[in-house]
Amino acid sequence: MIIQLEPQIKENQLEDLNSKLSAVGYKGNRIRTQYGDYVVSIGKKDFDIRSIGTMPGVRDIHRVSDAYKLVSKKWKVQNTVIDLGDGVRIGAGDLQIMAGPCSIESEEQIETTVQHLVDNDIKIMRGGVYKPRSSPYSFRGLGIPGLRLFHKHCQKHGIKIVTEVMMVEQIKDMIDYIDIFQVGARNSQNFNLLDALGDVDKPVLLKRGISGTLNELLQAAEYIFSNGNERIMLCERGIRSYEGAYRNTFDINAIAMLKEKTHLPVVADPSHGIGVRKFVEPVALASIMAGADALICEVHETPEKAFSDGQQTLSHQEAMGFYNRLRKTWKLKQSF
Ligand code: PEP
Ligand code: MN
Repeated sequence: MIIQLEPQIKENQLEDLNSKLSAVGYKGNRIRTQYGDYVVSIGKKDFDIRSIGTMPGVRDIHRVSDAYKLVSKKWKVQNTVIDLGDGVRIGAGDLQIMAGPCSIESEEQIETTVQHLVDNDIKIMRGGVYKPRSSPYSFRGLGIPGLRLFHKHCQKHGIKIVTEVMMVEQIKDMIDYIDIFQVGARNSQNFNLLDALGDVDKPVLLKRGISGTLNELLQAAEYIFSNGNERIMLCERGIRSYEGAYRNTFDINAIAMLKEKTHLPVVADPSHGIGVRKFVEPVALASIMAGADALICEVHETPEKAFSDGQQTLSHQEAMGFYNRLRKTWKLKQSF
């Protein structure tokens, strides 16, 4: 059950509310975010919720029976829009493309990518400076010095930055340089990290775990929301299955289902989703048709030379036609 409180709720009204909840066998958790003040209340008995809905200081009350509550569409019918400033919004009806290399490699690479994005009217650049790698001997990212360069060149052109944070301790060093914190698949249920990201007022792109269910993804998002941050996007990036012909099994079903279950924007990552350059485009187009609000994809001037994930990365040349077809598909979808 979600109880939306009036912004000026008085202490005694809150006490009355808590007494009422205890009387019906419910426990209240007060949640304050940058946009709202709520009590998420958990209990077993069924009762007439109007007896709480009419209490002074209570704005509205909603029954949400799912394990996840605040991220559910059952109480918030209007979709969440993530506003990054300068007219860049996710979930507002325009297709947002986030493109860039898997890893930030050098200043020259950043400059080339930024120019490519400007030329193609793309407003958000992706690129990892902290890289979760299967092998500890692989390239693990340039860290904060790389992020500073990333920020310097993006800022000049009004390009927003999405990049992965791997540890709670990195948040404070990254926050001034980034526009979206990415939580990678491997950290999708790192609850300490999720809690910490609930404490900051920067959007979070939360990826689905490598073998995460939708319920787990939504409950991971609930950690961020319930710790104070409503600015969350969910990302389908493929899951581990028995199929070995491609890197991951991109779960197109998840996109359609998530759009039904949650008010949060859904982002598709076809690059990691299939892991094979040649098939990134068809999977991306299908994601749009399934309802994705945005796309994140890996591009590189020379993918063969990329420090990571070159096999699933489009060249800048290839990406130009790709963006056009994404935009055409988006228009087609809007016309339905
Ligand atoms: C990435 O975006 O480069 C990445 C490491 O993604 P994931 O966490 O989905 O594997
Ligand atoms: Mn990658």
